[in-house]
Amino acid sequence: MEQRRTSVEERNACWVCFATEEDDRDVSWVRPCRCKGTTKWVHQSCLQRWIDEKQKGNSTTKVVCPQCNAEYLIIFPKLGPVVYIMDIADKIIYKTCPFVAGGIFIGSVYWTAVTYGAVTVMQVLGHKEGLNVMERADPLFLLIGLPTIPVMLILGKMVRWEDYVLRLWRKHSAKLPLLHYLFPDELSRYTRVPAETVPLSDPISATRVLCGALVLPTIATIVGKLMFGSVQSNFQRTLLGGIAFIAIKGVLKIYYRQQQYHRQANRVVLDFPDDITTGTDNSTQTAPTS
Ligand SMILES: [Zn+2]
Ligand SMILES: [Zn+2]
Repeated sequence: MEQRRTSVEERNACWVCFATEEDDRDVSWVRPCRCKGTTKWVHQSCLQRWIDEKQKGNSTTKVVCPQCNAEYLIIFPKLGPVVYIMDIADKIIYKTCPFVAGGIFIGSVYWTAVTYGAVTVMQVLGHKEGLNVMERADPLFLLIGLPTIPVMLILGKMVRWEDYVLRLWRKHSAKLPLLHYLFPDELSRYTRVPAETVPLSDPISATRVLCGALVLPTIATIVGKLMFGSVQSNFQRTLLGGIAFIAIKGVLKIYYRQQQYHRQANRVVLDFPDDITTGTDNSTQTAPTS
């Protein structure tokens, strides 16, 4: 009886709805934290609603008192065994799904790489020869070796040897009389040195590297058939075709880059043409402002 009266004295108002005990005698009260005074007591139902709002649907989120930062002690009714097992299963599935999805993704990429490797082997060695080689090979060796084919192609594509050649060229071009003879107007005429740009960092050049690398065996086969048709061995013919293609493309690319560099180096900014612009301004203006 004594305790009840002190409680009544302290329960001046609920800090959520500001109702006092006199307003409603049937609701249950709780003092969920270290707070004293006006924020000590709160209606059980009001606090539950407030916690619902804070948790935003995730019932495992911890909620603390906004005043004293004490964490609310929330207990749930005991679960039945079936619901308990289902609850644990639900949590396990929720936690493992990202890993399973990641595994499936990595697995698909891996098997795509294996397939690509096998197709490339058949393309380079010829259909029958390629199948023979793969049938005779150790399965483990195939499972590791085949997917490294596209990886090596992409890594190889990322080696930008043309850039090194170009840099060497620009550095030593003055010392080579042959180049001076071939490109007489290119030397000692640069009015400035253009800023270096780094084109590999954007995603479009990443897809370009990927496409270029994966399409290389096909191109090598075609170039090999066109240029080295007399070579009997499929492998040698494709290899020669690939080397020829890379060399020709490299030379063209170096030439193209050097021309671009040349244009960049010799560009000129013009004076702003005041007379012409004011003239066109007046002629295009339809409103009679002047
Ligand atoms: Zn309340
Ligand atoms: Zn508090």
